[in-house]
Amino acid sequence: PPQGYYTRRGGIGESGDFITSPEISQVFGELIGIWYISEWIAMGKPKAFQLVELGPGRGTLTDDILRVFNQLASLLSKCDVSIHLVEVSPKLSETQALMLTGGKAQSNPEDKSAYMKGISKTGIPISWYRDIQDVPPGYSFYLAHEFFDALPIHKFQRTEKGWREVLVDIDPDVPDQLRFVLSPSSTPATENFIQPEETRDHVEVCPEAGVIIQRLACRIEKDGGAALVADYGHDGTKTDTFRGFRNHKLHHVLRAPGTADLTADVDFSYLRKMTQGRTATLGPIKQREFLKNMGIDLRLQVLLQNACDAATREQLLHSYDMLMNPKKMGDCFNFFALLPHHRLVHPDKEHKPESKSPLPPVAGFDELLMK
Ligand code: SAH
Repeated sequence: PPQGYYTRRGGIGESGDFITSPEISQVFGELIGIWYISEWIAMGKPKAFQLVELGPGRGTLTDDILRVFNQLASLLSKCDVSIHLVEVSPKLSETQALMLTGGKAQSNPEDKSAYMKGISKTGIPISWYRDIQDVPPGYSFYLAHEFFDALPIHKFQRTEKGWREVLVDIDPDVPDQLRFVLSPSSTPATENFIQPEETRDHVEVCPEAGVIIQRLACRIEKDGGAALVADYGHDGTKTDTFRGFRNHKLHHVLRAPGTADLTADVDFSYLRKMTQGRTATLGPIKQREFLKNMGIDLRLQVLLQNACDAATREQLLHSYDMLMNPKKMGDCFNFFALLPHHRLVHPDKEHKPESKSPLPPVAGFDELLMK
């Protein structure tokens, strides 16, 4: 805990180790804000909701979402909205507090659950937690952008003698160097974390992601809401994706531990399995499709029209290309959602199929139709 990357460094942004979509363009967070509003309306405008973000980084995404909520204040005026941030990094939580509250957040080290509290620039209460379990129950919209890829994984290889775990060892020949070795026999992790129907020969499993998705699915089943997960990842097809980034360059994962961002692609098929059918799931769908369905092209046109100089227009087009180009972030990032079953299928559909009007489509996962 004291020497880990997010405790010591956590460098998000151009001057750091990696850059994320909300840091590239305000449009990204705005469209996600619209997604939550759209779901809130589709679910009958509940009187209150919590927006719970896992791993908020510099706080930019929440800030962009709050701007949308503020612009739509008349729509949300009767709704009690609160923000709940799950963050382990002391450094990043300070950055978030500065960004979202203008630095007016109070630390409560004694408080067993929320370690910090504040009010957003737009007047919405914000609380910080170390664990999703500390967030109070209630109707909630969850958000995890580039969160699951940061959690630790186990690596496994299939051998003639069965599954073996890839372990980290001290290299006996070179001082201060670590190396990968294969476990000589099975390990508790090989016994517990590999799906019986697994067909790949090399597999990465992130049990912590499974536990968190299970919790989100239980909470959505019980209290209502939805979760939006966005990350680079695959649907159970990729094998060796564990890698490190430092100063925007690939960095050997075992070199100088704690100084580089370590990441592994998110296995969405595993996340889907871990919902255990408690919620419905949508996706993964490619980022460029999701953002297109959310109306990014229209939003870009409006911003271009309002831009007062050529440099701003250039910047808008450049950031659009970063988010949407299939060779940049457009194809490798995916969106995935957890929704209550009744959001996709009428509970009494089987008995009286014609009795109800059709459910509204879930924004982002269906093509945008202009009326
Ligand atoms: N969502 C942000 C930041 C992504 S980086 C963005 O898109 O820009 C990953 C974030 O997850 C950081 O804020 C990091 O501090 C946080 N994090 C990493 N491990 C965590 C854990 N176990 N619990 C809570 N937050 C964690």
